[in-house]
Amino acid sequence: MVNVKAVAFDLDGTLYYNNTVIQGALEVVSYLQEKGLKIFYFTNSSVKSRAQIYGKLINMGFKLSIEHIYTSSHSAAIYLKQEGIRNAYCIGSDDLREELSQSGIIVSEDGNPVQSILIGLDYDFNYAKIAKTLDIMQKGKCLLIACNKDKSFPVEYDRLMPGCGSMVAAIEASCDTKVDYIVGKPNTFMLELLSGDWGLINNEILVVGDSYTSDIEMAKRYCCPSVLISNNNTNYKNTIVVSNIKDVTKLFA
Ligand SMILES: [Mg+2]
Repeated sequence: MVNVKAVAFDLDGTLYYNNTVIQGALEVVSYLQEKGLKIFYFTNSSVKSRAQIYGKLINMGFKLSIEHIYTSSHSAAIYLKQEGIRNAYCIGSDDLREELSQSGIIVSEDGNPVQSILIGLDYDFNYAKIAKTLDIMQKGKCLLIACNKDKSFPVEYDRLMPGCGSMVAAIEASCDTKVDYIVGKPNTFMLELLSGDWGLINNEILVVGDSYTSDIEMAKRYCCPSVLISNNNTNYKNTIVVSNIKDVTKLFA
């Protein structure tokens, strides 16, 4: 870990489950901060705005500023701006819409006409929204963007809840096409933003997460070192496997 200057932690299942901070997580983060490492917070969550995630982490006792957080909602707004997109039909939470509005992207409620459709996790997802998306896609060229394709996300007591990917799957099926771009993990867009924002290169960023196919896959694609927190016996390749987040400190002892 000689080159590592920053540690990018996944949130759901790594630092917390829903509203419960994982045992040892606070101590590990403050230990690494005392060692002089920059700490970043990565989440595919598209329901909450970056400001809400910031409030949640502060309430849990983490010490950070909002710029240390990379969410698929905030990053989606940056991506759309980078692509020169001015308006979007948005499937997702009010906070995802707010994230777009704050970046200057006009959120169209009727969907006509728009340059893009953004799909985030939507607790009120329904047939009418799938139909609206199909209607927009039939009318002309429109960029179809997903915050992420996570099938599910972990909550307390080892339970899973349906993720944004289930909504993306319904829309891809009805539109008979794949999304044009996925903002979240395992794509590297959020890591690219971090690198640019903080002047860090790939081997200086250690990614820590609980999902091999999401967190570790992102790290591999960006050639970052990584740590997988896992209790199962699968022979994971090209990553360091630990059974508990507390073991991360041993890498920097
Ligand atoms: Mg996770």
